[in-house]
Amino acid sequence: MAQRKSQRSPIRASFEFFPPKTPAMEATLWTAIQRLAPLRPDFVSVTYGAGGSTRERTHHTVKRLLAETELKPAAHLTCVDASRAEVDDVVRQYSTTGVRHFVALRGDGQGGAGAAYEAHPEGYRNAVDLTAGIKRIDPDIEVSVSAYPEKHPESPDFATDIDLLKRKVDNGATRAITQFFFDNDLYERFVERVRRAGIYVPIVPGIVPIHDFTKIARFSAATGASIPAWLAERFQGLESDPHTHSHVAAAVCAEQVLDLAERGISDFHFYTMNRADLVYSICHILGLRGEAPAEPVSEAAAA
Ligand code: FAD
Repeated sequence: MAQRKSQRSPIRASFEFFPPKTPAMEATLWTAIQRLAPLRPDFVSVTYGAGGSTRERTHHTVKRLLAETELKPAAHLTCVDASRAEVDDVVRQYSTTGVRHFVALRGDGQGGAGAAYEAHPEGYRNAVDLTAGIKRIDPDIEVSVSAYPEKHPESPDFATDIDLLKRKVDNGATRAITQFFFDNDLYERFVERVRRAGIYVPIVPGIVPIHDFTKIARFSAATGASIPAWLAERFQGLESDPHTHSHVAAAVCAEQVLDLAERGISDFHFYTMNRADLVYSICHILGLRGEAPAEPVSEAAAA
């Protein structure tokens, strides 16, 4: 692996969490947040479950982040199964609580990722409209949106996808966060297309540390993210060997982010799955430092 001396720009990370369902999951989430917070992420985002199913839990997590940490939370918001008035209410509630950043998404239909999407008759049709709606309510609020280096599975072609991204940016989005990917060349080619289309906002790579290769491979099929053969080979035979699996995962992820950093990328968005272990190691390799822990970090705290 590279022992490179480069002149790269300072690295900035952001972390994505999902709202916990049970008190035990809440404890796990907060252990992860406490471990990752000293790395001073640019922001931390909290996802919004399909059909607004986590509306309250997302809100609770975001409010707790505001009340108990110095972190800057970004609330994910989707258009699914809600009228514009309902979504606007959620935006206003967040805005009153002090949230200054949304990740605006269309979301998926009832069938989940890959199923045909039907907009609510009185709702926002997609993230283009939602971005405009949020900006109408508060023009100063920051809006990030999604981008798909391997194109969205419902999209007929890259041109449609990139046109949609352009409209999201024209409506006020100032950052796109990508779906996860493992082939950096695909990401680079996508960014070139995006720039050729006159889109100049940061296209922040979404990085997924592989806690469970089998699950990621299954999920990838629905999201349109491809699994290169070399990646599958690296995890081959590790289904019942979690220890080696986690070492391989750290090596694979470090390789990916260091390569991206060498290509000039300085912002990374980590899909943490509410676990700090791999993300903390990768950020350390990227040069991000928190305060040295006063006491040895236990395995439970690291995970
Ligand atoms: P949009 O950008 O609105 O559109 C995506 C695709 O839909 C387009 O590329 C196009 O193919 C098609 N499309 C939409 N409108 C049109 C149109 N008018 N004409 C032609 N084609 C159209 N999901 C959640 O439920 N909760 C979350 O918190 C969440 N967070 C995410 C965070 C990130 C960074 C990413 C990348 C995805 C996230 N998702 C989340 C998943 C996302 O909701 C799905 O990928 C969904 O299918 C598309 O949402 P979008 O905002 O990307 O859609």
